[in-house]
Amino acid sequence: MDLGLKDKVFIVTGGAKGIGEAISKLVAAEGGITIIAGRNEADNNKTAEAIKAAGGKATSVEAELGSAAECKKVIDFAIQQFGRIDGLINNAGVNDGVGLESGDPEKFMASLQKNLSHYYNLAHYALPHLKATKGNIVNIGSKVADTGQGNTSGYAASKGGINALTREWAVELLPYGIRVNTVIPAEVWTPLYETWIKSLPNPDEKLASIVAKIPLEKRMTTSEEIASMTVFLLSGLSAHTTGQIIYVDGGYTHLDRSIS
Ligand code: NAP
Repeated sequence: MDLGLKDKVFIVTGGAKGIGEAISKLVAAEGGITIIAGRNEADNNKTAEAIKAAGGKATSVEAELGSAAECKKVIDFAIQQFGRIDGLINNAGVNDGVGLESGDPEKFMASLQKNLSHYYNLAHYALPHLKATKGNIVNIGSKVADTGQGNTSGYAASKGGINALTREWAVELLPYGIRVNTVIPAEVWTPLYETWIKSLPNPDEKLASIVAKIPLEKRMTTSEEIASMTVFLLSGLSAHTTGQIIYVDGGYTHLDRSIS
């Protein structure tokens, strides 16, 4: 199956690790050019080099996406290097545990800056270029927007905001033929997930109890499974899909766990 990504240019935020790394690699495996945008240059380079060693095309730009100026830098870099942007994959985020009780107003706003603002800022600066290519946007959200998690108000508000912006941007960008969709992971083993689970008391027990509640096959979703849906949404094969929030979670968020 040809997804039609050959020589098209895609920005993957947080594309060096975890889910972003899998997306970066799959975009390149499909013939696309991956631009990894992340704050750790060594991580960015490592993933870009791995893609190139496998015969793909990739480059990277170091950026702390919490800054609007750094978001603009990412878009300017893409245009200077390749003259076009065909897709924006807003993926970078961190479940930073800013709770209602444990946090404070400054920490809450900082969490929005880390998790939500750059989704808007990058889309804003990319828009003229996406209009030119009739490109599209895929956001990575979280089931926390639907289920809550406790002690993570900033992250939950950000992920809820991302779902709302998916619908809002899908409407606003209809005249340009730009599609906007969101992929929702629930439980995916990544560096972020490992850090989070290890922050809990009895992490092994907690992990086993989570995995036992995942309806389909009692296993975690892989980063590659999130990447597959993302790349499908980027491609022309999903040409009539926009404004959708798609759960790639083995049924974790919605299915009746009492019968699974
Ligand atoms: P990850 O393993 O931490 O990888 C994220 C990458 O993004 C890292 O390279 C990280 O850099 C980078 N990054 C994060 N914030 C950044 C910023 N402000 N500026 C620049 N780079 C930044 O995370 P992941 O688990 O793959 O998560 C990816 C996305 O999936 C996130 O939006 C997350 O909310 C969502 N998600 C994940 C799960 C899951 O089970 N893993 C579940 C639901 C939703 P550092 O290494 O320097 O932090």
